[in-house]
Amino acid sequence: DVDVPESHPRYESLLTRHRIEEGVEKGITSRQGLIAQGRGEAFDYLLGEETIPSADRAERVAAARLLLAERPVLSVNGNVAALVPGEMVELATVVDADIEVNLFNRTKQRMEAIAAHLRDHGADEVKGLTADARIPGLDHERAKVDADGIHAADVVLVPLEDGDRATALAEMGKSEIVIDLNPRSRSAEAAAVPLVDNIIRAVPNITRHAREMADADAEILREHVERFDPSEALADAEQRIRDGDLA
Ligand code: ATP
Ligand code: MG
Repeated sequence: DVDVPESHPRYESLLTRHRIEEGVEKGITSRQGLIAQGRGEAFDYLLGEETIPSADRAERVAAARLLLAERPVLSVNGNVAALVPGEMVELATVVDADIEVNLFNRTKQRMEAIAAHLRDHGADEVKGLTADARIPGLDHERAKVDADGIHAADVVLVPLEDGDRATALAEMGKSEIVIDLNPRSRSAEAAAVPLVDNIIRAVPNITRHAREMADADAEILREHVERFDPSEALADAEQRIRDGDLA
């Protein structure tokens, strides 16, 4: 579907761009989503367009956190749906999480298009359309969530979330796993587990770690989670951006 040879040095980045464009054409991704993508690309370039070692460690912790959770929910917006729909469904299956659609610019049409797109990629249930609960401290449209989804969740994976919502969810006491290529974004700073990595690499890597740890003792998983320091992970990413060091 995309006319870029795999040997192209920017293959992954061009493929990603193409998927976002297609998302916009299909009514899944908003035009603001294009801007968010551009912002992400700039950081990815500076990170060397690879999963840095500290992000890989954080992704293992994220997998442990999801496996330990009572009610894990994976939040999906228009960029996430365009970039990694099947990969999100697969992760949800492996860690037994719910999937909830959550949009910064919420329209019924886009909510439904994304839910249908996720079902096309194997999701059996998609939450977010009931919207019978609210996140305190946000304006009406941005506060909408499902009572039995994000509102009741103990652990939420929020990729590419806007800073206000990420902060409000943390204030509700949710343990947040945030995927965001900008280590200085408010979303990354609000996270219990920040993953400074491209979502197209991060999600399959969390799934891989979750599969490896699926039969591990809860005690071992808990140790993993407790040893993790989010500010150290952010500092490692920043150091990589500044000096190209292998943090
Ligand atoms: P803040 O969190 O500081 O309030 P924001 O949430 O308003 O900022 P946006 O541009 O709305 O900023 O959010 C998009 C974020 O998602 C950016 O930080 C960008 O780096 C990140 N991002 C974009 N594409 C990807 C991607 N493919 N993988 C991971 N992160 C991405
Ligand atoms: Mg943000």
